[in-house]
Amino acid sequence: MDDLMGIHVPPPREDFAIREVFVDHALRKDPLPHIDYSFNPYVGCFHQCAFCYVPRLMQTDRAAWGRSVVVKRNAASVLAREVRKLPRGLVAISTATDPYQFVEGAYRITRHALEVLLRAGWPVSVLSRSGLMLRDVDLFVQFKEIEVGMSVPTLDDNARKLLEPWAPSIESRLRCLRELADAGLTTFVGFAPAYPPTGGWTAGAIADIFESIDVRKVFTRPLDARWGVRESMLARLEDSAVSRDLARISDRGYMAGFIDELAAECKARGIEFRNAEEFRIGVRMAPSLKV
Ligand code: SF4
Repeated sequence: MDDLMGIHVPPPREDFAIREVFVDHALRKDPLPHIDYSFNPYVGCFHQCAFCYVPRLMQTDRAAWGRSVVVKRNAASVLAREVRKLPRGLVAISTATDPYQFVEGAYRITRHALEVLLRAGWPVSVLSRSGLMLRDVDLFVQFKEIEVGMSVPTLDDNARKLLEPWAPSIESRLRCLRELADAGLTTFVGFAPAYPPTGGWTAGAIADIFESIDVRKVFTRPLDARWGVRESMLARLEDSAVSRDLARISDRGYMAGFIDELAAECKARGIEFRNAEEFRIGVRMAPSLKV
């Protein structure tokens, strides 16, 4: 599965395992603000981002993260039962996996879930790093309430290659956002976890790109380098030309200044900007990376 909808998708790694399960529940009450439920079609994620917070949430071994995915085969039919019983609310797809990682091309769990939510008239917010999302534009445009977004936490693809080497390129994510906006959809960027500016990018230049592809909203949160994230990232930053600049990703003072700058540049261009509360002074974070 090397190419989907004209978007390059890295071939599965040889040691990557796919397992199928049947589940009893599909929706989960979500504690995140502005979200009522989360729907995660898969457990695990091919993209294997070094900073991923899901291993911590699931209390699983970070070293094993990104080596397998569990497919919830019946998730959409369970969802269909749940939307008949639960109070209507905003469903985030997804919060603990990428709903358009390559297995979705074959299993279509995300697509079937969207069909269920569309029939039920529920609002959705969809977030991915993969341009496979474009396959479902025909469904997105039928929703009355929907936001679709891409995680674009840096514009420097060299930095992206270091920390999320198995995820699609930044260029393909921007192209996807452009096409979603051209379809008349409200698009957002998840600038999370916020990367520091590398490769000559400035806050103004980043905001210019977002404006040029009609991004309407940006939300961000800082890296939380605890729980093995720091060690996982350090291993990938060794011997890299951008490692010194990129290591500032966990320098809270520096990142808070950069985020303030990016927020101002986005707002000046009419792009809504939301920052996570973690940037408030006093929240305990891990020490900065040193490379
Ligand atoms: S795409 Fe999201 S869920 Fe997947 S590894 Fe990266 S951060 Fe984790």
